[in-house]
Amino acid sequence: MARLVMKFGGVSVADGQRLRHVGELVKHFNRDNEIVLVTSALQGVTDSLLECARKSAGEGKVSNVIDFIERLTERHNQAIVEAIKDPKIAQEVREIVIQKLNELEKAYIGICYLGELTPRSLDLISSYGEQLAAPVLSGVLRDMGIESQHFTGAEAGIVTDSEYGDSRPLEKTYDLIPQRLLPLKSVPVVTGFIAKDEKGIITTLGRGGSDLSASLIGAAIGADEIWFWKETPGVMTTDPKIVPGARTIPLISYREAMEMSYFGAKVLHPRAIEPAIKKGVPVRVKCTFDPDSPGTQIVHDDILKVDVIKAITLNKNVALLNIAGAGMIGTPGIAARAFSALAGAGINIVMISQASSEANISMVVEERQLEKAEDALRSEFPKDIVKEISDNHDVCAVAVVGAGMAGTPGVAARVFKAMGESGINVLMISQGSSEHNISFVVASKDAERAVQALHSEFGLGGERK
Ligand code: ASP
Ligand code: MG
Repeated sequence: MARLVMKFGGVSVADGQRLRHVGELVKHFNRDNEIVLVTSALQGVTDSLLECARKSAGEGKVSNVIDFIERLTERHNQAIVEAIKDPKIAQEVREIVIQKLNELEKAYIGICYLGELTPRSLDLISSYGEQLAAPVLSGVLRDMGIESQHFTGAEAGIVTDSEYGDSRPLEKTYDLIPQRLLPLKSVPVVTGFIAKDEKGIITTLGRGGSDLSASLIGAAIGADEIWFWKETPGVMTTDPKIVPGARTIPLISYREAMEMSYFGAKVLHPRAIEPAIKKGVPVRVKCTFDPDSPGTQIVHDDILKVDVIKAITLNKNVALLNIAGAGMIGTPGIAARAFSALAGAGINIVMISQASSEANISMVVEERQLEKAEDALRSEFPKDIVKEISDNHDVCAVAVVGAGMAGTPGVAARVFKAMGESGINVLMISQGSSEHNISFVVASKDAERAVQALHSEFGLGGERK
């Protein structure tokens, strides 16, 4: 008997049919395990809640609110009709949903009249997606003969600071959660994403925050594993749209997962799984279409090198930024000034490289921030030190990730030999001294070919090396 926390995202609970499928999965695993569920809002609901809030503050039209609430009611009712057969349970759930929607409507109307939207009111509004989803999912489980109860994040013991929109859980959360949820007699369904602060006001853990809720709960109740269910087969060696022979990676370390998501792979957000990893609770990414396959396990420690390279990632939404000038040579503080100026402008720097000639520094930033980054650098540096600031939009960052490359000679040679043989020009290279990844920049037109060449060079699809 293992204790499992299972998190289902919005896509997995999008409608009645999907909710029913979640029920089947719980039923399947509930035979031999204790289970806690964490749910997101039905797919797209959080976005629509936020959009309606902005419209209400901007246009103040109560009629819009009424229409929106009607659509939301219809969406959830439809899910209830499709997924809950027992009329008594369906009616109970419908009543909860209607009551929540009444509260929500009042909040929107308040915003219409006030014409203003604070981060605190946005948290209240966006919390309703999960507040509606949890009772529905819990009802589906009961309908399928599984005992279940629903909880809000706060009821389950998650207490945060008061940074509305992006709150951090307080340490005491770890004591409160087991008090509220244990011993596990039925299957609790907990709202992801939302919590309360110490004043009792609703907070949220940032977009995508349900993953964090699940890992907090798993860490706090000493779960044996936390399962993040997806519609894709675990964490893959690369994007299967680029390389059809891409495979699921059975085991990766937290560090590797972190490197992969920094470089654009859609793994779990490192911040979201940190509580679990810190407490040594293994995390698993499982596929709802293939529930008995083990998926990908993410563990705390680096795994000794079986495969030197685990994955190739591609980030298309980046741009290259270059500062150059003879005045930079031997002048201390240029890099510090450049990075402070960028930090001051809120720019996220993805990669950095400076050759020892010191005549230029290249950086990769997120494409959407490129203009802001250039402006920040131009106002920081007078022309005599930094002669030239140039950029290139039309690039992608490729990263080769794997803890096994640390101390293994020849990996970089194989990477760049593969590029050379494919006739791909490399614009910038960077390898941190942690040696967990080698990343480089190529022209967008070469990017997918670069990924294909590397995937085969390192035999990630099972090709003979
Ligand atoms: N529903 C929230 C969002 O869309 C939280 C989550 O799904 O993790 O961001
Ligand atoms: Mg989501």
